Amino acid sequence: MKILFDQEQIRQGITQLGSKLNEQYGQSPITVVAIMTGSLVMLADLIRCLEMPLRISLIRASSYRGGISSGELHVEELQRLDIQDRDVLLIDDIFDTGKTLLEVSKRLEDLRPRSLKTAVFLNKQGTSQVQLKPDFSVFDIPNKFVVGYGLDYDDYYRNLPYVAVLEPSDLEQHHAASR
Ligand code: 5GP
Ligand code: MG
Repeated sequence: MKILFDQEQIRQGITQLGSKLNEQYGQSPITVVAIMTGSLVMLADLIRCLEMPLRISLIRASSYRGGISSGELHVEELQRLDIQDRDVLLIDDIFDTGKTLLEVSKRLEDLRPRSLKTAVFLNKQGTSQVQLKPDFSVFDIPNKFVVGYGLDYDDYYRNLPYVAVLEPSDLEQHHAASR
């Protein structure tokens, strides 16, 4: 696997994002809404860099791609979202086409937060299909399939402490080893 960002680079990137958010919000309380499962690791690291009072809500988003796909996104609220009149920070692992972030943002806006900002760990370059841009991102990446630091292939690899490009030879090994 080709490593794109190692543990130390990620630590620095997340710390910088934390500083920007501390500057942005000061001591105003925020609600962090995290899209599971991909943003789990970022969530755990980022919140420990944040200094304002904060609450966490977890949601799950899945799109039915392939098969009889309508391309529609299904959002499960793992916890009843209480975000009306609150300052909300929505976080996700990666911005690819942007459809997930756009659709989840719309659903959150319907709940009338006081403000809504978005932060992603990775921002894939040249793949966006929407007008929305994330307000904050830690790293830009080329249009490659990456795993680690929460990002999965087939639900594996989320535990890697680095971000790596998954190459065809890795896939062969994966299929031989994971069943
Ligand atoms: P979007 O809706 O922006 O196209 O895609 C967002 C979702 O697609 C992410 O939350 C993630 O689950 C998945 N995704 C997109 N690109 C990658 C990638 O390079 N690696 C992994 N592991 N997941 C990706
Ligand atoms: Mg995801």
